Amino acid sequence: MHKGDLAMGVAFQLEPSVDRFVKAPPRKMLIGGKWVDAVSGKTFATVNPADGSELARVAEGDAEDVDRAAKAARKAFDDGPWPHMAPTERQRILLKVADLIETHGKELAQLETLDNGKALFETENVDIPQAAGTFRYYAGWVNKITGETSPTDPGYFNFTLREPVGVCGQIIPWNFPLLMAAWKLGPALACGNTVVLKPAEQTPLTALRLGELLLEAGVPEGVVNIVPGFGETAGAAIVRHRMIDKVAFTGSTEVGKLIQREASDTLKRVSLELGGKSPNIVFADADIAAAVQGALMGVFFNQGEVCCAGTRLFVEQKIHDEFAAALATAAGTMKQGPGLEPGVQVGPLVSQEQLDRVTGYLAIGKKEGAKAILGGERNTAPGLEKGYFVKPTVFTGVNNDMRIAQEEIFGPVVSVLPFKDEHDAVFEGNRTLYGLAAGVWTKDVSKAHRVARAIRAGTVWVNCYNVFDVVSPFGGYKQSGYGRELSHYALDLYTNVKSVWLKI
Ligand code: ADP
Repeated sequence: MHKGDLAMGVAFQLEPSVDRFVKAPPRKMLIGGKWVDAVSGKTFATVNPADGSELARVAEGDAEDVDRAAKAARKAFDDGPWPHMAPTERQRILLKVADLIETHGKELAQLETLDNGKALFETENVDIPQAAGTFRYYAGWVNKITGETSPTDPGYFNFTLREPVGVCGQIIPWNFPLLMAAWKLGPALACGNTVVLKPAEQTPLTALRLGELLLEAGVPEGVVNIVPGFGETAGAAIVRHRMIDKVAFTGSTEVGKLIQREASDTLKRVSLELGGKSPNIVFADADIAAAVQGALMGVFFNQGEVCCAGTRLFVEQKIHDEFAAALATAAGTMKQGPGLEPGVQVGPLVSQEQLDRVTGYLAIGKKEGAKAILGGERNTAPGLEKGYFVKPTVFTGVNNDMRIAQEEIFGPVVSVLPFKDEHDAVFEGNRTLYGLAAGVWTKDVSKAHRVARAIRAGTVWVNCYNVFDVVSPFGGYKQSGYGRELSHYALDLYTNVKSVWLKI
């Protein structure tokens, strides 16, 4: 174990492998089973958001590297054992991946917290176990992906095969780096595809460590290629590449639109999990204490860097003021600091860019006439000055037309909006470009059902928020994207259906 000096002078015992990652020469990319430098020789820095210091340097992938990776993935798909392997063997390897993630859970959690900023409590209890669980769940599917026989005219025998799509380009975001890699790789690999994965430039480290674990588990060379780099270069090259059959993307709606346009040239299959501005609706008849807690975690979990965060908190008029005050009181007690520091609940934002974006919205909100009853500014308390900290913020005096109510902020900022009745709540809740998720708080079962159906979003949580399980699908309506990740629905993204006819 090595003693790492982190922001605020906190000394923390880092796991040896974390130390290796953050102190070693530049991390290489994984292509064709080998760790290689970028063709250009370029590297980029990944930064510790708790203090702005350089954490590690990483090979910077570009179009040429994506080309090498796509060729390796193509070869592994066309010639390699992976798509043709006995399902039980592929299953064994994916189960091993899950085990290895768990075995190395502590180091992966630390590495994630260092690179992303989020609290260690979250990486240890959410990101890492759910990543392992995702691989284990999809390992279970490997030998259960079946076709059908069809009741055709008796002169023929017709059946369907579900075949892998081929080479999948997977572009992931920085808010749950390892978990998003698992959401993408789990179903893709279970179905027998090969992959070119690009982690976000802000958080490449856990995906690279995962690459080592994949090889250790026995994933054959070329099956998973990991090319760190920037969106406009490496990401765009994945979307354009002719050997890549499908692209799966999680990120902003703006980039999602760009990807859909770019993918038209090669007619790649596309699945998009994009932004959100989710309504979290609290009726006066709800269990108020539970709703305050749910609203709190609904928006401040992961510093609000969550696509489904309940950022538009609609509260029935008659309890609006007291609810907003209770939320602000609860949020005011959340401990903010470097993610590795014990007890921290709200870490720094991921980057300077994100800090600028979120503080920019705080200024916009105030200019629009909203009132920050909590926070409303950057946190520069002693020891945090160099980090990207924004205080948990509760805005009141918001109406649904304001930019802070309509645009995705992706930070610890919630807008509380009053509503009159059920119709008003649903109408205003749906009045957004997005449709990723929603929350409903009420003790009235019929009302809960009505509202859950009336909201146009891919997920609705009733009397809870931000609940995830690999067995339940996740994805968007409207401009939050399309395609469903997790559960058996994700298998549809990664398989083609082939119809085979035999004349009897
Ligand atoms: P954010 O704006 O929150 O950083 P992005 O949507 O820009 O989110 O990024 C999500 C992922 O998409 C990252 O891996 C990023 O590198 C990638 N990306 C960004 N721009 C492009 C692009 N033009 N083409 C392909 N991928 C991109």
